[in-house]
Amino acid sequence: MNNKEDQSIHEFDLNLIFEYFSKLERQGPGSPEITLKALSFINGLNEKSKIADMGCGTGGQTILLAKNTPGKITGVDLCQNFIDQLNRKAQDENLGDRVKGIVGSMDNLPFENEEFDLIWSEGAIGSIGFEKGINYWNKFLKKGGYIAVTYESWFTNERPAEIEKWWVDAVPQITTVGQNVSIMQNAGYVPVALFAAPESCWTDNYYRPQKPRQEEFLKEHRGNKTAEDFISLMRREADLYSKYKQYYGYVFYIGKKI
Ligand code: SAH
Repeated sequence: MNNKEDQSIHEFDLNLIFEYFSKLERQGPGSPEITLKALSFINGLNEKSKIADMGCGTGGQTILLAKNTPGKITGVDLCQNFIDQLNRKAQDENLGDRVKGIVGSMDNLPFENEEFDLIWSEGAIGSIGFEKGINYWNKFLKKGGYIAVTYESWFTNERPAEIEKWWVDAVPQITTVGQNVSIMQNAGYVPVALFAAPESCWTDNYYRPQKPRQEEFLKEHRGNKTAEDFISLMRREADLYSKYKQYYGYVFYIGKKI
């Protein structure tokens, strides 16, 4: 038997998680500012460029990328509902000819070798593993193409056991920023830039908008113990962030394929 402290995100049905996040604008920490900052390190995109956005969610960053780059963008996500929302937004914004969402798994992609000029991924690579993801995606990039990925990273070499346990459980391969840069180099990318996402990406843009959604979700699933446990877990994640944010965060890793 698990007590709440030991419960893990992996024990919950994906459909429950998708349902919760389908009514939130973001499904992970981030901001338009950091998306545009990361984009500022990427050169040479033109109308013929092809971009993939892995684990695009409902497409907050996908639409922003489309508005700030030429070329075509393909968003990939496991969740049909998120992809439907992205494709609807693309139509509404008159970007339907340049943005397309497809349902698929980012570790089993239907793309050609060397198809893309840029592979983007915010808050998603941890679910297949940073090392596995950037190695697998490498073949889909043209030589000289870019990768830009946010990933949970330790800011310090050591941290309190409580937060270590939480993140190792959620993202087993979590490691330090330095180790991740080394993983990037080994995967065949020149590190171009990296920066840590500011706290507001977590607090203002991710945890705060979840509060009303949590109340709503509990009402929608009144009496459902699994839904209640899931909300407790999400609340605990937010509490842990405020307690331990000096030890970890999202880092944007930007690299260029050699
Ligand atoms: N990029 C979005 C969503 C981040 S949440 C944002 O920053 O708001 C992580 C997303 O990755 C979710 O939408 C989830 O459905 C998706 N995901 C998780 N594992 C995946 C996989 N193997 N293949 C494709 N998408 C995946």
